[in-house]
Amino acid sequence: MSTFEPEVEVAIARVRADVARLHGELTRNGLVVWTGGNVSGRVPGADLFVIKPSGVDYDELAPENMILCTLDGDVVPATPGCERSPSSDTAAHAYVYRNMPEVGGVVHTHSTYATAWAARAEPVPCVLTAMADEFGGEIPIGPFAIIGDDSIGRGIVETLQGHRSRAVLMQNHGPFTIGKDARDAVKAAVMVEDVARTVHIARQAGDLVPIPAEAIDRLFDRYQNVYGQAPKGTLSGLDTLRYSTIDSDGEELNA
Ligand SMILES: [Zn+2]
Repeated sequence: MSTFEPEVEVAIARVRADVARLHGELTRNGLVVWTGGNVSGRVPGADLFVIKPSGVDYDELAPENMILCTLDGDVVPATPGCERSPSSDTAAHAYVYRNMPEVGGVVHTHSTYATAWAARAEPVPCVLTAMADEFGGEIPIGPFAIIGDDSIGRGIVETLQGHRSRAVLMQNHGPFTIGKDARDAVKAAVMVEDVARTVHIARQAGDLVPIPAEAIDRLFDRYQNVYGQAPKGTLSGLDTLRYSTIDSDGEELNA
């Protein structure tokens, strides 16, 4: 059995439990079909992350069958779950963790409306205050890239680095989202589908009305810095301008 320092083992156990449980949010929010979609979470204080196994039913996902990987995307041998293959998107998640040290969670789905915008290679324009709050502007399109090397990861990082958005729509593919931890990335995955759907529906009935750039800036700044609960203080190195500190369980997102 691979062993780590006691505090790292505690962190691994916590991330395994979080990542296993958070997959339930993908099905609950209608973001995935069959075994598609994946959530990963960085292990704080170690060069490791935890990701879903490939092709396992959502009902069977549990902390002990989540897979522990190095930041190169290699499965850590002799750890729980290591007998299975990790998600086929593991290389993309690993690339993001290697290149964006502030990121603690990554999520990928093919959620319907967000993926429909990706199929058109069209960014979702910022026409809702909720988008300005959560994403600070439009949801950008990433390059066309296919699985097999670093190209998906590179496309995600190149698009999101220096961008306020925590979501990128990879062209002809679907959304990838990032966050300060796995839960924050799942929240972004839920929110990006929600706004992609609303803006799509709005456009069926007429022209979209853009929000002025300075209003977007004000909304984003206020939402990221003023609203919500105080940070829990369990994660360090966060860019609080980029990442929401809101714990929105059961609360109005803009209230
Ligand atoms: Zn995919």
